[in-house]
Amino acid sequence: MTEKQCEICGAEISGTPQKIVIDGSTMEVCKSCARFGKPEDKFTLVPKKMVPAERAFTVVRPKPRDHFKDLTELVPDFGRKIREAREGLGLSPEELGSRIKEKAALLKKIEREEISPEDAIRKKLEKELKIKLADETSETRVKSGSSGRGLTLGDIASIKRKNER
Ligand SMILES: [Zn+2]
Repeated sequence: MTEKQCEICGAEISGTPQKIVIDGSTMEVCKSCARFGKPEDKFTLVPKKMVPAERAFTVVRPKPRDHFKDLTELVPDFGRKIREAREGLGLSPEELGSRIKEKAALLKKIEREEISPEDAIRKKLEKELKIKLADETSETRVKSGSSGRGLTLGDIASIKRKNER
């Protein structure tokens, strides 16, 4: 009396139905239809099952700072910091430029954040203006690992492995 019908082909299931996940929903199917989905137990740790479908429409955006990736990460408002420090010292871009042997036009572009300074220029600016332009908080964020970004499948897998030991 407890015989169930396969939710895919409609055949009566003898024995325990196979629970599989198709497109985010769990179905009870016969053995031969089990191959159409993934075993349910692999999904129990991932609450959001609709992700693959959504992902198909997600445009992969480059990270905003990608074009700076070879450079030290800069504080977000480095241009303003440079300008304020320079003005605090009563220097014009030309005067600052001659102190650190860079063109004033270049410094102006950096202050407008049109370009980000190379490490060598950044260090000269930091030294001359006594400011910090390298974004140390972002380094800390990377080093502290999983905090704040949630678990990934990889994390879950390693947690599982640890628990199995
Ligand atoms: Zn079936």
